[in-house]
Amino acid sequence: MNYLFLNSTFRPAIEILVLWFLIYRIILFLTGTRAVKVLIGIAVLLLTFLVAQVFDLTVVGWLFTKLFGISVIALLVIFSPEIRQGLSQLGQRHIFASPLKDEELDQVLHQISEAADNLSKEKLGALIAIEIKDSLNAYTESGVIVDARVSADLIQAIFTPNNPLHDGAVIIRQGRILAASCLFPLAHNKDLSRIFGTRHRAALGLSEETDAALIIISEERRDISLVYRGRLFKDISKEEIITKIKEIIKTKNA
Ligand code: ATP
Ligand code: MG
Repeated sequence: MNYLFLNSTFRPAIEILVLWFLIYRIILFLTGTRAVKVLIGIAVLLLTFLVAQVFDLTVVGWLFTKLFGISVIALLVIFSPEIRQGLSQLGQRHIFASPLKDEELDQVLHQISEAADNLSKEKLGALIAIEIKDSLNAYTESGVIVDARVSADLIQAIFTPNNPLHDGAVIIRQGRILAASCLFPLAHNKDLSRIFGTRHRAALGLSEETDAALIIISEERRDISLVYRGRLFKDISKEEIITKIKEIIKTKNA
């Protein structure tokens, strides 16, 4: 009896919670990706279909019913990278990883900003991805595992030309340099200014797929930029690196 009561009271609540979580994750996942444009396209097609139904346009209606069957397969093919990424994130989010203590985080960010500043002064290019909540495991596969404590010297050493690991990006997780020489997906955005080469596009690309915070040290312009969730903060100081990343982590942990 008690069990039945609990069942009927809690079932709708659990269902709402699960649905809320799924919709929230899908919206988060889709924002800033090319999926949004495709979804708008689908909405326009649906609207046309409705109009065809209302005005009884048989040929258009017939065409749409045929197209819908194929479009499911087409969507699976078009979005296979996003679907793969989404499913792998589902199982790999670091929900249970304990966040670094404040003083540890200060220390790590200080070392990273010091390295960025020194690299830009030496006119060396670099790309550093800091894992926030979404796992960057998939991207370590293209690089070399380092698994060493973050230090400014080590980051600078990695990005020094002729070092076999200097090409590509470094991934930082929980105060450790997880991997180096990693490749990220390039952003597809065609409107990006010509001044952004592949390093900047790789940073934007990863930030469209994950919640990583990325620091770009430009070899050409000698400035430092921060990229987060598809937004680029240009020419920031080493102090701003620390404050901006702390802000991101704080809002993520809230
Ligand atoms: P910069 O301002 O430093 O010149 P940029 O945005 O103009 O940067 P490029 O000049 O094309 O970009 O930088 C090339 C470097 O970017 C490569 O040597 C490599 O280290 C890095 N890079 C290129 N593609 C990727 C990628 N997919 N993932 C990670 N790093 C990449
Ligand atoms: Mg360049």
